[in-house]
Amino acid sequence: MEFIYKENDTPESFPLLKRTWAEIDLDAVEHNFRVLKERAGGARFLAVVKADAYGHGAVHVAKLMQELSADYLAVSNLEEAIEIRRADVSLPILILGHTPEEYVPHLIRWNVTQAVSNRAKGLAYSEAVQAYRAETGDADAVLKVHIKLDTGMTRVGFLCAGDMTESAVASIAEVCSLPGIDAEGIFTHFSVSDEPDDPDNVRYTEAQLALFTEMTERLAAAGCTFRIRHCANSGAVVNFTEATRFDMVRPGILLYGCGDGAAELGLKPAMRLMTTVSVIRYPGEGASISYGRMYTLKKKSRVGVLPIGYADGLLRALSNRAVFYSAAGPVRQIGRICMDMCMVDLDYMPDVDIGSEIEIFGPENPVDGLARTAGTIPYELLCAVNKRVPRIFLRGGRVIGSEHRMFL
Ligand SMILES: *Cc1c(COP(=O)(O)O)cnc(C)c1O
Repeated sequence: MEFIYKENDTPESFPLLKRTWAEIDLDAVEHNFRVLKERAGGARFLAVVKADAYGHGAVHVAKLMQELSADYLAVSNLEEAIEIRRADVSLPILILGHTPEEYVPHLIRWNVTQAVSNRAKGLAYSEAVQAYRAETGDADAVLKVHIKLDTGMTRVGFLCAGDMTESAVASIAEVCSLPGIDAEGIFTHFSVSDEPDDPDNVRYTEAQLALFTEMTERLAAAGCTFRIRHCANSGAVVNFTEATRFDMVRPGILLYGCGDGAAELGLKPAMRLMTTVSVIRYPGEGASISYGRMYTLKKKSRVGVLPIGYADGLLRALSNRAVFYSAAGPVRQIGRICMDMCMVDLDYMPDVDIGSEIEIFGPENPVDGLARTAGTIPYELLCAVNKRVPRIFLRGGRVIGSEHRMFL
């Protein structure tokens, strides 16, 4: 397949270094959004774009979400939120992770919503808003927050199981009534919603869900209602669709067309990580390939060198085990993966020549499979794609943007 951007000589796309690169298919993201939106019923849609949209480029994905009328974005931290705001995206943005209270003025000025995971943070944020009011004379300044409940993930959030329910309700009600705090939402996160094959895990998710529901009801009885209740990560969207919708769904990996259930839902992988064959050589019988001598040739062989290594995000743990994809079929990686390159076995593959394109992962070679080989999850392989790998953004088969460091 020929890629349009080869012919496209716009200043944006032309100076790309065709060494190793990632094509981001925004049409696939749009398709995935529409399928997931349908699955959300009437619920609002929060697109998780943390970690540079799982490596796909948060600015482009956020702009697309705005164009498609998504309702909310979520990021991990303030820097990620500001990057999106600076690109003129006005959708509400929720910071899922930690923001120290001294940054509250920035949260307010950039109109960013903050998760609050315990009483002490709620108090500190309220204090900071009051200080901001005094300093700026803006008496109406408020910090929008979403209360984070820990229903069983045991990471962050108000602990609320068992004998902690009462105190959690009291603490949350207190935080919601603090000056300068607008408690718009409440949410929780599932720890095993993506593992429906184990009945124990299904029961666990159901218990988390029941506790979330109970907490929202108890809080309502205590006079605390929230405009947006949400808990459905990708696993819940696939496996607990209706029960976990509430007011908004919150998928990440599915939006990028990966993860368990993506194929069944007809979602399309959005990232295609590409490289080319840079060198072909014919080492003799007994030659050991790369560091550590993990692979020894049984006979004189045709060996290709790919200019991609662990510094590009190709995990070293995949050494001697990965299979990539070429137009002529699967290509086996041999020997240790180095920082900037790795070797492949091209014996009996005469059609794969110098300059041939190789898909590391993407529509032809799903990242989920490669992740299994590495003993990890697709999230990690997507996030691992280093910033030195240029991103090319495609829409309607055309390049509409790029992120790279090549300035000729
Ligand atoms: C990352 C994250 C998500 C998205 O998870 P996926 O499994 O990618 O759908 C949702 N909610 C929270 C709190 C997260 O941290």
